[in-house]
Amino acid sequence: MVFLKGFSDNYGKLLNYVGGEYVEADTDRFLQSYDPGLGKVVAEVPVSSKRDVENAISNALEAFSKWSNIPLIERIQYLIKLRMLIEEKREELALMLAQNVGKTIREGRGEIQRTLEAIDSALGVPHMFMTVRKLMNIARGEPEIDMEMVREPLGVFAIISPFNFPIMIPMWFIPMAITLGNTVIVKPSELDPVPITYFMKFFKDAGYPDGVVNLVNGDSSTSQLLIEHKNIVGVVFVGSTPVAEKVYSQACSKGKRALCQAGAKNPVVLMPDAAPEQSIDNIVSGFFDMAGQRCLAPGLLIMVGEAYDKFIDMLLDRVRKVKVGYQLLEETDTGPLVTKKAKERVVGMIEKALNQGAKALLDGRTYKVGEKYSEGFYLGPTVLDNVSPDMEIAREEVFGPVMPIVRASTFDEALEIANSRDYGNTGTIYTSSGKYAREFARRMNAGNIAINMAVAQPNQFFPFPGRKKSFYGVLHGQTDALDFFTDRKVIMQRWW
Ligand code: NAD
Repeated sequence: MVFLKGFSDNYGKLLNYVGGEYVEADTDRFLQSYDPGLGKVVAEVPVSSKRDVENAISNALEAFSKWSNIPLIERIQYLIKLRMLIEEKREELALMLAQNVGKTIREGRGEIQRTLEAIDSALGVPHMFMTVRKLMNIARGEPEIDMEMVREPLGVFAIISPFNFPIMIPMWFIPMAITLGNTVIVKPSELDPVPITYFMKFFKDAGYPDGVVNLVNGDSSTSQLLIEHKNIVGVVFVGSTPVAEKVYSQACSKGKRALCQAGAKNPVVLMPDAAPEQSIDNIVSGFFDMAGQRCLAPGLLIMVGEAYDKFIDMLLDRVRKVKVGYQLLEETDTGPLVTKKAKERVVGMIEKALNQGAKALLDGRTYKVGEKYSEGFYLGPTVLDNVSPDMEIAREEVFGPVMPIVRASTFDEALEIANSRDYGNTGTIYTSSGKYAREFARRMNAGNIAINMAVAQPNQFFPFPGRKKSFYGVLHGQTDALDFFTDRKVIMQRWW
């Protein structure tokens, strides 16, 4: 198996990981996965069939009956081994992520760091479990009656993930889900599934029992088979809003629990009193790192009052310095978009904005990378001025290296624009005024608030909330995992 040997320029036909073994998918449908910086195919991705999905579910279900009865303290030991194995391969994994997603190696390293933090967080599960409650002698009666609440794992969960963090996002959930006693089936994005498919070997090498963690490659049809299956008890989905909406309603209508993290349009309010250099530097990396392909990336810059005249030249100078290039070169600041189609979509959104009256202060469509990379899906940073808050480019997620700028006369007007987006992942303010910062944090309707920080990613030990069209469900990711991946049971007892 080429891809199990690690980093390569061609991984051939990918396998699934089911019941503790890498297995061929029972399908003749394959999709192509690219190195987006070279525009070259690096893997053939099977679209797993109904037979593949049923086989994975029956393996996971069988594993669940044994795994859920292993003591928690023993289940934790596997995480420690898993963590050590990942540590050893940090750099290779970072390279593989960069190659397949198009993110830089630095960003790939960051993703692995976050992956390790997700494991660290799951190591704390016994402490979280201490919220179990027991009340003794709760009613007048002889003998006395005691009542207690315990938590139990539920069964097999499906984890459907997006392309932009192929390892980290499944790993936001896997350590918690399995340590709490469940088993899982991962359905990665079909755009870049090499890193997570390779990553499955760490579960095997860490000694996890067969069937505890499984992976089926495929597209939306594969996700659908999982969501609809009666033996899938819950669905975790991370991806775009239209799909999240659909997955959430589908899963809930089948009586399953669902946690769906979705798209965003994160507003950034820049006040005239913001610290100039630090703020501009931070805003530019927020918008353009990872070619803008992060759910927490800023999506709209709202410049308040004199902020425009004060900062615009500095901002453009800083953006001009962003080095777009092949993601595996250390000097690259930001890489290509994930696919040709993604690039065309972003170009289409820029063109529409220009037709509606926006003005390009910098036009990334003409950005040139070296001849060697001419087939890659690159787009330079684009800065659009004269944008009005109701244009599509100001309302919808671009998921590309585009900074639309709207102007507001006052803080209140800026807040009103920020709050009238349909999404509620994050909201950011740059200011040196504690009063405005506090007011923003209180009145901004988003799950995560950032003050003088571009990307508001909560640490694993905090919840990862989202509001409006950025999140579907009741329980959020990270710390709410304890509730999501367990069910409560109340036991009453008396003894004669
Ligand atoms: P996507 O919605 O296109 O795909 C996500 C996953 O859903 C993939 O595995 C895909 O195969 C599957 N899928 C697609 N259509 C489906 C359907 N009809 N039914 C079931 N499954 C289906 O998203 P993407 O382009 O891979 O990722 C980018 C999006 O993800 C952006 O909108 C971004 O904001 C969002 N995202 C959100 C978060 C968050 O935490 N809120 C994190 C990362 C990415």
